[in-house]
Amino acid sequence: MNIHEYQAKELLAKYGIGIPTGHAAQTVEEAVAGAEKLPGPLYVVKAQIHAGGRGKGKFTELGADAKGGVRLAKSIDDVRKDAGEMLGNTLVTIQTGDAGKQVNRLYVTDGVDIEAEYYLSMLVDRKSGRVAMIVSTEGGMDIETVAHDTPERITTITIDPAQGFQPHHGRAVAFALKLTGDLNKQAAKLASQLYTAFMDLDCAMLEINPLVETKDGKLLVLDTKMSFDSNALYRHPDVEKLRDETEEDPMEVEASKYDLAYIKLDGDIGCMVNGAGLAMATMDIIKLNGMFPANFLDVGGGASKEKVTAAFKIILSDPAVKGILVNIFGGIMKCDIIAEGIVAAAKEVNLSVPLVVRLEGTNVAEGKAILANSGLPIVSADNLGDAAEKIVAQVKQAA
Ligand code: ADP
Ligand code: MG
Repeated sequence: MNIHEYQAKELLAKYGIGIPTGHAAQTVEEAVAGAEKLPGPLYVVKAQIHAGGRGKGKFTELGADAKGGVRLAKSIDDVRKDAGEMLGNTLVTIQTGDAGKQVNRLYVTDGVDIEAEYYLSMLVDRKSGRVAMIVSTEGGMDIETVAHDTPERITTITIDPAQGFQPHHGRAVAFALKLTGDLNKQAAKLASQLYTAFMDLDCAMLEINPLVETKDGKLLVLDTKMSFDSNALYRHPDVEKLRDETEEDPMEVEASKYDLAYIKLDGDIGCMVNGAGLAMATMDIIKLNGMFPANFLDVGGGASKEKVTAAFKIILSDPAVKGILVNIFGGIMKCDIIAEGIVAAAKEVNLSVPLVVRLEGTNVAEGKAILANSGLPIVSADNLGDAAEKIVAQVKQAA
């Protein structure tokens, strides 16, 4: 789960980490009121969307000359003008895709006199099985570009979970940032605070870009992105409350209500499968037959008829879906129950694309009979290969 910059900064501030003061706003009036609480004379109005690259982003509705999603404002009047331009409009950045994201929230924050910009991120490194800190002197830039062009400017420090964060890790971070004197001490302390926050909150990723050194010698988190391990969210009800569903894929939000594992993909064939392994195999065999899956959807082992119906509706509500392949092994969930769910959902949503169903397992004969007697144009398949061939053929025929 991702959260907004202002929410992440509020969390980090609780760990003693330095951030510029700021206030979130959902209206122009709130933005102005937020700015009035700041000392000035420089304010920064920042679009709050779950994507980076806002500074260099473009607003679709405003002209090509309009400023991006991070704006320096020299007066309260400018804050009012910028907030008015940004709220409700669509910001396109390198991370949003062409459709962009509508800006519904702003963060009005203190303008900072920047001496230097750095990069610091943390993630769970699967290779080493440890939390890694990735540090670079090249802050404020796209880190993928830095990694590609000048990999020697990136330092990775991993932390042994059994030992935890040690003073030498902090020194290594400060050294990688080439900081001396008091700034060196601040960097070491910051690294330790970040590690504590990361572990405490069960983060999956925490990126600070840029981390800045101010003209008066302070290290501040100027921009941050934070994401959390969804499987650990039950331990953090306060973090869970920060979820902003308007930033998420509406179909994925709907799926999570029914506890379905759903991920939207780019292809044409919607898949409904039980078990992640079977889902992977189904996606592979669709590709093997020359088409691509439109989604990953695991309805789980013990899914009810309601769950199957919800899953089916989610797949059908995706306009990219040109055909559906249902591949279910009826173990805990029996084939006749699944068949009833499919028929009910197909009738409810007015099935407009080809549907191939492969059922196997408990009560398979009853399940197949329900499909056959439904009066719906459902094609039954006998095995995985047969199912994939049939759906691809059906979709090509319908095109
Ligand atoms: P994004 O990464 O989405 O473009 P950032 O918050 O990193 O957004 O802002 C982009 C750039 O804008 C920063 O690299 C920094 O140079 C400048 N900036 C952001 N916030 C402030 C601030 N509070 N004071 C001064 N400059 C800022
Ligand atoms: Mg940034």
